[in-house]
Amino acid sequence: MPPIHTPSFITEIPLQANGTQEHTLEVRFRLAQQAYNACLGEALRRLDLMRERKAYQVARKLPPGAARTHAFRDVRNACGFSPYSLHAWATRYVSHTLLGDHLDVNTIQTIATRAFRAVEQYCFGVRGRPRFKGPNQIDSVEGKSNKQGLRWNDRALVWGDLTLSGIVSPRNPVIAHGLTHPIKYVRLIRRRLNGRGRFFAQLVCEGQPYRKAQHIVREGIVGIDPGPRTFGVAGADWGAQVDLQTPLKQSRQVIRRLQRKIDRQRRANNKDNYNPDGTMKKGKREWTMSKGHQRSRVTLANIYRKATAHRTSLHGQVAHAILSRGATILIERNSYRSFQRTYGKSVGSAAPATFVNHLARLAESAGGSVVRVPTTLRLSQTCLCGAIRKKPLSERVHRCDCGITVQRDVWSAWLARFAVTTIVTKETSTGKTGKDIVTWRLDAEAAHAAWARLPGSDAGLPAASIPLPPGRFAARVGQLGKRELASGRAARCAHVAMGEAVSPVSASELVAGKARLETREATDAVPLRRLSLCSEVCVGRENRGKLVGRRESHGL
Ligand SMILES: [Zn+2]
Repeated sequence: MPPIHTPSFITEIPLQANGTQEHTLEVRFRLAQQAYNACLGEALRRLDLMRERKAYQVARKLPPGAARTHAFRDVRNACGFSPYSLHAWATRYVSHTLLGDHLDVNTIQTIATRAFRAVEQYCFGVRGRPRFKGPNQIDSVEGKSNKQGLRWNDRALVWGDLTLSGIVSPRNPVIAHGLTHPIKYVRLIRRRLNGRGRFFAQLVCEGQPYRKAQHIVREGIVGIDPGPRTFGVAGADWGAQVDLQTPLKQSRQVIRRLQRKIDRQRRANNKDNYNPDGTMKKGKREWTMSKGHQRSRVTLANIYRKATAHRTSLHGQVAHAILSRGATILIERNSYRSFQRTYGKSVGSAAPATFVNHLARLAESAGGSVVRVPTTLRLSQTCLCGAIRKKPLSERVHRCDCGITVQRDVWSAWLARFAVTTIVTKETSTGKTGKDIVTWRLDAEAAHAAWARLPGSDAGLPAASIPLPPGRFAARVGQLGKRELASGRAARCAHVAMGEAVSPVSASELVAGKARLETREATDAVPLRRLSLCSEVCVGRENRGKLVGRRESHGL
């Protein structure tokens, strides 16, 4: 029976654990890592066996179609290359090892599935050969259902003889919402805070996630032109650039200094592992780590953790601002991996792919969609008049002889809104309906009409703009909504909070109520951001103080 897919969302709850419980959990995570390695080794062995088979070689040479699929399925079954046969192997393996005393069968089986999926991706050529995990490289385990093994029961996580009570704030609506929904299964997460393991339960619940009242979603189309760091965003009559980079300039200096300090400490503690010219010796080496070295590593890990948390929050602000302008989002499809190769530093601090996934998840849960438009439409080279001209990357403004002058990224984003598909179903030779062929084109008619409707030709689309930081972008978008509401041409709300059915009479009131909240939010946005910036600066100063202090105490 194929699995039934229903919408789900995650509720994360921090857990309380005393010293003994923490120790037990650390042991179990260590054993989970060993179980993962065992399953990975077995899955890789089975893959090798499968690839050696004659039947596999025959199947590879078949033309695509049902016969090829069946041939592959047979050889997979013959070699036991499937999650379920790996489950059976893992269950047997567990029953006569130490692992069986500490991990339950359900948890072992989900670990086996995880290892199998990694090998499967490698088999399909999607990813590289999966690596064996080192100690502390497994930070999550999950159950299969909320009935056995890892489960959530009466505000506590139960795992074998362990019961860890959750820290449930009665005033937290997100957690309250999650706890009222049926739980599919539970995941246990370990995070390192100040070098110590902290544990969190992730309840995978069935249903729709909690939507805060201030996060309204309107009907409409928004176009996005993604970049490694800045995104062009455009609606019908507005456009802006948003800079997704986390504003942590101060921290970057601190990070660089800490990295150098850690390197110095590593070299000082392990002189035998280095050649006289400073290069590392080859082969297996023993490493010693001083207390000071450990402390520096913890400080660095904390800076990265805080930066990630700050970035996630900023991404959320931008995503909600975009959704308040339209739930249908057309975004140019991009290879973020190639961005990473060329603009590693920007991508590292802006995380564009993470943002797009975040946006897609929010849009889908609000009943909208994120559509990826192929690059073959050449949005950055095309003009409304039909002229196509390749621009060098340094040219930041789209300037055409027909009189259109708009910032390049904003222009591509605006054009992306008019990408439409034509679907042709290809007839196969046997007369059966074959695959759908999707072709993309720009709807020139709609684009011309939209351009003509713009007040004063390009009033809302700037010819030159500086990328706005997330907070200011959200505030600007909030002002747009405010202006529209004042003039009475606000778009209909696409989503009503929590999926409640609302009669047409009260719907308009609800929109107004939400809009009031939204404006308050917009005015709050700037001071809030200043606050968070201040705290980051303070962190930076604090660390710098620490570093200087230590250097002085060492007499340097
Ligand atoms: Zn033109």
